[in-house]
Amino acid sequence: MKKTILDEAGQIIASRRNRALKTAMDNKEKALAFPDFKALYSKYMELVINEAKNGITSSQESTKLQEELDDFLKKHNIGSINPTFSCKKCEDTGFVDGKRCTCLTNVLNEILKKESGFGEFENFEQSSTTIFHDNGYMGKLYDKMKKWCHSDFKKNVIFISGDTGVGKTYLTKCMASELITLDYLVFLTSSFKLHQDFVKSYSCRDFEEKNAILDKYFNAEILFIDDLGSELRVPNVTNGYLYQIINERKAMKKPTIITSNLDVYEIKDYYDERISSRIIDRESSICLQIKGEDLRLKK
Ligand SMILES: [Zn+2]
Repeated sequence: MKKTILDEAGQIIASRRNRALKTAMDNKEKALAFPDFKALYSKYMELVINEAKNGITSSQESTKLQEELDDFLKKHNIGSINPTFSCKKCEDTGFVDGKRCTCLTNVLNEILKKESGFGEFENFEQSSTTIFHDNGYMGKLYDKMKKWCHSDFKKNVIFISGDTGVGKTYLTKCMASELITLDYLVFLTSSFKLHQDFVKSYSCRDFEEKNAILDKYFNAEILFIDDLGSELRVPNVTNGYLYQIINERKAMKKPTIITSNLDVYEIKDYYDERISSRIIDRESSICLQIKGEDLRLKK
């Protein structure tokens, strides 16, 4: 994952936390300006500290004082003096027990979504398979792919081929939405953009930057490559990088979903045997072909 994406997400989460803390502090300051509240608050704090020393938590007396404090705040229209975090699970730190919290995953996915340039993602629930030419087949295909999203990804390459407009990208966006709800980090890219980055990385002289450009493709938890084969290949660049990415992701058991206008045979001709053997592999790939008329024309 590109470092800047993590940084950006971290900043968003941190600013949520800071906002919650600041609001609580401001409220406290406002409330403490009232002598009655100040006296009550001191009494409460003294009690709580004493109880803590003796290993007591929330006694009847402290609960009662807490209620009185809350009533005071309500009466004077002052918000809580305790921070109200956007995420109760991690208190806006982004992590729970050292693991990434759902709120951080959501922020990261929003950034990745924006970066992908694919616009809004459709999802399985909203999608109506009736718009597809072959309703029965498409329905089954959707079920199969939805099931895969919930699998352990033993099949870690999904290759979906079919002519332009048969619903390949639509299907992958539904898959992306489903995977996001399951807390995976999902990155969608077009073959065109991927290839642009291959060339950028190839011509970059700085070793670290060279790697950083392609980092997201190697490290994305789930990578979607849309329209493979539509890019203009550059000899010595395309095949080498593409093989590296697919091969390394396979070795790390990270799922890659590829759509293409080319079928499995054409992929071999367009690229080479090595690449096609990584994409189309009986053990760990699912290859699908969508047939049908152009949905964009039909709509
Ligand atoms: Zn959280």
